[in-house]
Amino acid sequence: MSKVGERCSFCGREKRETNMLIAGLSAHICDYCIAQAQMILEEEMASKNQRVMPDYTVMKPAEIKKYLDQYVIGQDEAKKIISVAVYNHYKRIFYVKKAKEEDVEIEKSNIILVGETGTGKTLLARTIAKMLHVPFCIADATVLTEAGYVGEDVESILARLLQVADYNVSVAERGIVFIDEIDKIARKSDNPSITRDVSGEGVQQALLKLLEGTIVNVPPQGGRKHPEQKMIQVNTQNILFITGGAFDGIEKKIGSRLQTNMIGYNMDQSRDRIDKNNLLQYISLVDLKSYGLIPELVGRLPVVTFMHSLDQETLRKILTEPKNSLVKQYVKLFEMDNIKLSFDDDVLDFIVEKSVEFKLGARGLRSIMEALMTDAMYELPSKSNTKTLRINRAFIEEQFNHNALSKLKVA
Ligand code: ADP
Repeated sequence: MSKVGERCSFCGREKRETNMLIAGLSAHICDYCIAQAQMILEEEMASKNQRVMPDYTVMKPAEIKKYLDQYVIGQDEAKKIISVAVYNHYKRIFYVKKAKEEDVEIEKSNIILVGETGTGKTLLARTIAKMLHVPFCIADATVLTEAGYVGEDVESILARLLQVADYNVSVAERGIVFIDEIDKIARKSDNPSITRDVSGEGVQQALLKLLEGTIVNVPPQGGRKHPEQKMIQVNTQNILFITGGAFDGIEKKIGSRLQTNMIGYNMDQSRDRIDKNNLLQYISLVDLKSYGLIPELVGRLPVVTFMHSLDQETLRKILTEPKNSLVKQYVKLFEMDNIKLSFDDDVLDFIVEKSVEFKLGARGLRSIMEALMTDAMYELPSKSNTKTLRINRAFIEEQFNHNALSKLKVA
């Protein structure tokens, strides 16, 4: 223990000026210096980790897709296109120096995913981030407004990414940002000069800045309320932006474009080849422009792909096939109570049927399953003699009938 009059050997504070002074063999250290040393240690460790970052280019596009297959069912076109885009993106980061020497600049491949809500857009982006061990955050384009208006500045997106990266700037600078509902900031009218469009075109302009790769001043707490807070500079050059949106009604624009293009060509042949039931597969950047995204923004989202709506068969697979499928999650939960849980096939069919009936899509699977399993999850852990639980259709139908879910009206 230290005696009165002793000082910290690092900063010279007297014992009475500290909260704690710890004695070593021939020196002392105070709590302030310990805290500072801890910070230095963390920074040093973080930069060391940075230096031994994994070589992303080792994973080839086919391997990336294989990884995605474990979590995302179907959506093969999107998975393929994204695998190539991600491969190129990280290849670009690793070869950026070399490319500069050779005067070849590889441009960023930000992605736009078009598809109904609940078809796996966020899941896809999240899975890629998990695979690459990079920080990932989700932003909602609908809450963003142009700087100076009520709402969130686009910089707040980067504040969130920084938070996820524990404020390690260089780690955040290699992260992935998913911007959802990008279609909601489409230009409201064809004539942008009539009124100020602060949540539409204004936000698109602001987003451009992030997407094109510049140094952005980010308020660490995200808000605008603390003008005195120190800004953190984040370079967005190597951040991969994946954007997604439902783009309701875009099929019409695709259809009329295809129609126009056909005029003058061999009409009959082209018409035969077009699958009118799935026009989304022909989506191109031109359609996004005519939907109301400004050309500059579209230009910064060069990789465009689409998500299929989920049919009954896909929903059924989603229940059981992904590595962390709902069924596997419930089996695990019960396993922790030493109960072997299993579902009859027609139980899973029932859950899918209800999700389709109520138009809840893949998201509905979870809420239906949760509602139907509540009683079992409530009662079984207290029954120590139950070792197996086989869920059959009769049980599940009964649960459904006395559950609020059955009162749902089909829209
Ligand atoms: P979106 O971003 O398109 O609105 P999400 O990715 O949030 O949709 O999907 C909602 C949930 O539905 C996911 O968490 C996932 O459990 C499930 N899901 C949706 N599509 C798929 C799919 N293709 N494969 C596996 N699960 C899916």
